Amino acid sequence: MQQSAVRDYDCIQPVYVGRFQCDGRLCDSLCCRYQWDIQFDAESYERYRRLQEDPVWAGRMARELTWEPEMKCHVFHHSDPDGCSFLREDKLCALQRALGEEILVDACAEYPRKTHLMPDVLERALCLTCPVAAKEALLAKEPMQFEQVKLSSHRESYFQRADNAEMIRAICFYDLQWTGIAILQERKLKISERMRMLGDFLKQAEDLAQTGRGEQIGALGEAFPAKQMSSQDGSRTVMPDGDMETVWRMLSDVTQKSEDDSEETHSYISRGRSFLAKADAVPEAERLLSLHEHMLEHYLVNEYFMELYPCAFMGSFTENYRVFLSLYRMLRFLLLSVAAERGALAEQDVLDAVRWMSLRTNHYMGFMEALRETADG
Ligand code: SF4
Repeated sequence: MQQSAVRDYDCIQPVYVGRFQCDGRLCDSLCCRYQWDIQFDAESYERYRRLQEDPVWAGRMARELTWEPEMKCHVFHHSDPDGCSFLREDKLCALQRALGEEILVDACAEYPRKTHLMPDVLERALCLTCPVAAKEALLAKEPMQFEQVKLSSHRESYFQRADNAEMIRAICFYDLQWTGIAILQERKLKISERMRMLGDFLKQAEDLAQTGRGEQIGALGEAFPAKQMSSQDGSRTVMPDGDMETVWRMLSDVTQKSEDDSEETHSYISRGRSFLAKADAVPEAERLLSLHEHMLEHYLVNEYFMELYPCAFMGSFTENYRVFLSLYRMLRFLLLSVAAERGALAEQDVLDAVRWMSLRTNHYMGFMEALRETADG
C-alpha cells in the first residue's frame, strides 16, 4: 500500500503549539505508559506488518499488535506494566529512533496534537494530558496568542473532519469561536464574569440563528465585549461559579457514571467533601486561586478552541455552553479544595488538576456523556 500524498495546509493554532517538542525525558514518557489502546489505520498497519518479518522487531510486534474484533482494526495494547515495549531506557521510542517519525502510527506521531480539518483551514491545538504541552499552554502570563502557519502532512485521515462548509458558514462558526475567545480573554473582568458574558453572547447568537438572522452573529460578536461591559445591569440569572455542593455532586456523579475508580479521583472527591464543611476557608482559597487566574483562562481558551465550542457536540449553543460551564465549575472547585486543604496553591497543583480533567474529557469512556446528562439535568 502506498503512503498518502503529502498535502500543504493553512493551519490556525495557538503560538505555543510551535514551541512544543515531545521529550519523554521530561515527562517519564507518560503517554507511552498509559494503558491506552493505539488504533491502527490500514496504512500504518501495512508499515508495521512489514516489521513483523524483521527479526529485530518481530518479538515485540507479536506481543503488542493484536486484531480487535469489536473495533474492527489492529490495536497496539500496552500490555507491559512498564508501558509500550518499544520504549527505551532513555525514555525515547526505539521505533522512531531507528526508523524515523514516518514509521509511526498516526496516533503516536500526532499526539498530543488535536487537529480539525475545517473547510478552509486546519485548526490545531495540544491536548493537555501531555504535561510538556500543558506547561507550554498554561504557564505564560500573557493571553494565549494564535497564528496562521503552513503545514505539510500525509496524515489527513487522522484529522477530525468538521461539519460541512455550508453549515459552518450558516452558523457563522468562526464568529462564534473568535468572539468566545475574546470574551474569555477579557482581563478587565473576573473569569466568572467572562463565563457569564459568554453565556449571554451564545444565548443571543442562538436566538439570531434560530430566527434566520444568523448573518448578524458577526456584528453581535464585534460589539459584544464593549457593549456588555457598559451595561452590567445585574438582571442576569446565571451563577457562573455554581453552588459548591451542587458542583461537588456533579463531580461525584460524573466520575461514578464513567466508572472512574482511580486513586486520584477518590482523593479529589474526598478532599472536595471536606472542603464543603469549611465555608470559612473559601475566601482565602479564592484568593490563592486568583493568583493563577491566567492558567484557568488558558485552559478555557484552549478547550473552547480545540473542541470547537459552541459546536463541540450535536446540540444547541446553549447546551454546549452548559457543558463548558460545568468543566469550568469542576476545575475551579478542584483547585479551591486543594487550596483550602494546603493553605497554598502551586502551579503544579493547577497542572495536575488540568491533566486530571483533560484525561477524563479525552480518554474516559462515558465521562462527556455523563457530563452532558448532568449539565442538562
Ligand atoms: S507526547 Fe507528551 S507525554 Fe508523550 S512522551 Fe512526548 S512529552 Fe511525554
